[in-house]
Amino acid sequence: MTLSAVKSLIEQAKKLPGLTHRQAEKLVYSLLSDNKIINIIDNFSESAKKLKQCNRCGWFVDQASSDCENCGTKTDAICVVPTFSDMLNIQRTGAFSGSYHILGGVVSPLEDILPENLLIKALVTRAQDTATKELILAFPDSIEAEATLHYIIDAIGNINVIVSRFSRGIPSSSKIEYMDKRTVSLAFSERKPINHSIQS
Ligand SMILES: [Zn+2]
Repeated sequence: MTLSAVKSLIEQAKKLPGLTHRQAEKLVYSLLSDNKIINIIDNFSESAKKLKQCNRCGWFVDQASSDCENCGTKTDAICVVPTFSDMLNIQRTGAFSGSYHILGGVVSPLEDILPENLLIKALVTRAQDTATKELILAFPDSIEAEATLHYIIDAIGNINVIVSRFSRGIPSSSKIEYMDKRTVSLAFSERKPINHSIQS
């Protein structure tokens, strides 16, 4: 027998990405049986409400302020990544110290992720900034990544900025978020410029 209030919590937990019904059930019952975890969730919720996503770069900013730490970082080179996990892994390796642009995924019609759902327009705006000399596209080799690159190059058009991408040869199964320090450093140092209107 399941209380309707518990059922409702399980339904909410199922909205978390990658959680099956059984995993959601297990999560809810273990959370309910530990007050310390409930307090952690309360605190998390309060802190999360104070943040919003920066509409210029995809990072997080304080709700009360429009100052973005990432946008304010030196922007002569911007590293464009699909996800937060990719950015965090590159940061961990220390291979890049400039500003990031978090697209919010890669184009994938099967998962309902279309170009307009990604922060491509905002990237174009950032590329128009005269301080920005290079956009480094940190993408692995995959069909979805190629499609996304195509949309980005198209959107950049003839803006006077160098567009380069991670060196080829990173296996399609190897996501940026799991790459080790040596592979990330190599991908940066051997990055290749991509021809777009201004460079052709
Ligand atoms: Zn920002």
